[in-house]
Amino acid sequence: MSESEHNIAANFIHDIIDADLKSGKRTDVVTRFPPEPNGYLHIGHAKAICLDFGTALKYGGRCHLRFDDTNPEAEDEEYVNAIKEDVKWLGFDWGEHLYWASDYFETMYEYAVRLIEKGKAYVCELTQEEFKDYRGIPTEPGKKPPGRNRPVAENMALFEKMKNGGFEDGACVLRAKIDMASPNLHMRDPAIYRIKRATHHNTGDKWCIYPMYDFAHCIEDSIEGITHSMCTLEFEVHRPLYDWILRTLEVYQPQQIEFARLNLTYTVMSKRKLLELVRENLVNSWDDPRMPTLCGLRRRGFTSEAIREFCSIIGATKVESLSEVELLESCVRDDLNANSLRAMAVFDPIKVVIENYPEGLEEQLEVPNHPQKEEEGMRTVPFSRELWIERTDYMDDAPNKFKGFTLGREVRLRSAYLATCTDVIKDGDGNATELRCTYDPDTKGGSAPDGRKVKSTIHWVSAKHAVETEVRLYDRLFTVENPLADKGRDFKEFLNPESLQLITAKLEPGLAKATPGTRYQFERVGYFCVDPDSTEEKPVYNRTLTLRAPRKIS
Ligand code: ATP
Ligand code: MG
Repeated sequence: MSESEHNIAANFIHDIIDADLKSGKRTDVVTRFPPEPNGYLHIGHAKAICLDFGTALKYGGRCHLRFDDTNPEAEDEEYVNAIKEDVKWLGFDWGEHLYWASDYFETMYEYAVRLIEKGKAYVCELTQEEFKDYRGIPTEPGKKPPGRNRPVAENMALFEKMKNGGFEDGACVLRAKIDMASPNLHMRDPAIYRIKRATHHNTGDKWCIYPMYDFAHCIEDSIEGITHSMCTLEFEVHRPLYDWILRTLEVYQPQQIEFARLNLTYTVMSKRKLLELVRENLVNSWDDPRMPTLCGLRRRGFTSEAIREFCSIIGATKVESLSEVELLESCVRDDLNANSLRAMAVFDPIKVVIENYPEGLEEQLEVPNHPQKEEEGMRTVPFSRELWIERTDYMDDAPNKFKGFTLGREVRLRSAYLATCTDVIKDGDGNATELRCTYDPDTKGGSAPDGRKVKSTIHWVSAKHAVETEVRLYDRLFTVENPLADKGRDFKEFLNPESLQLITAKLEPGLAKATPGTRYQFERVGYFCVDPDSTEEKPVYNRTLTLRAPRKIS
């Protein structure tokens, strides 16, 4: 796909790149998206993906997909495959540039040795508590750990022993020797290697020492020739370390650029919290349509185009903020309104009997698939003497503005005929249970040859032909804008008990066969999409969104 198809809006990152290209500091643009394969991607990752891949596209450069698998635990093949699928679904392509941080373990080890040789790293045997105690607080200098001035040869021997399994897990770490008095705690001799006996999915039991994130990440970027390494704001305070490591090693130095992470109202985004919801069966799976994961949003019926459009609108800034989920939803509605096919479905049915329509007669009526797009063509929908319509499309003594049946008023049955309600059958409580109508056979297609005006058009499904369908109505997963705002309470207390409702709807018969993932606008009702659970015998539809945003009460 091209840059224009991805709709990449300008942002401050592009200003930096423009300046770098102009000054000759860089001659090309190479970026990377570096997920840790310990969970599924969410809408926050989509922002990062759009920035990383989108920026590379904009400048005719390339973007690497790099699995950050330096942590031997918590990583899983399932996540790796899902991440690849989601990046592709979003419309991006890493081509041949798929990398694994663990492929660089050898180089990282050599680089650690190089730091020791330069007198810039040492083995430290402090316990975790002592480590913190020596590091101290930002406003006062820390204390110099014992062993800090140990000779190079001794550090070499100790690090070698770490590597060869001569120490217990956690007995010591390798630390960069920087500045125990720095106001930035990350510069107070950070740990760069730790001992951890764990089988790694790629390197097996070859290593019992693993590099720390800050040491590994800048080296990965450097090895791959990344020019601009984008990450979220919390890494801003790590940047001096990123630069120090590469400068001290005297290797190629990419530039790290931080942007504000995406936060969304009514949503939690951290993988750890999403995992909690899955593990505790508070949702059905990672791809539960209520989840903010990309696979969840996809199953819900959100399109990748709409998600990219949303990411383009929010852009990239340096200011932490909370974006409104309504903005994402409006991008989805705009896309679905323009691009989804129309169909008719009745959710809360009441029977209509057309008394003057011949018994046993069936017609196949031509109905347009999209009111504004003739090129989408027509489909045939069966019509017969008995129909289902929405209960809300009938009212006793309706006011003029009511768009539906009331006694004596003529209404258009979408793409079918004009019909007039002549009688209402009610139950003992006075509720309408069936409508009796007459239709005008000269109004086939829905317009009268004499040009008489009919204000209301309602949707319908032939009772004899209707397919019964399970419809899953989704609402927000949380009842409050920011489930994490109250630190004293568990975010799960704010789960919306009504986030999923199951109903049975009556659909026009052609919809039974739709393939999973197909999206429709059910006219006058909302946007829906066929669930992967769907079969021809038992169709299942997910509600993506209601037709319009519910009015905000403020
Ligand atoms: P989480 O906090 O949800 O577990 P993470 O940052 O640990 O996410 P990674 O797999 O390390 O997840 O993320 C890969 C990339 O996605 C990183 O560059 C990270 O900065 C970016 N990213 C993660 N969450 C967001 C977000 N909410 N908004 C923008 N970018 C994000
Ligand atoms: Mg992470």
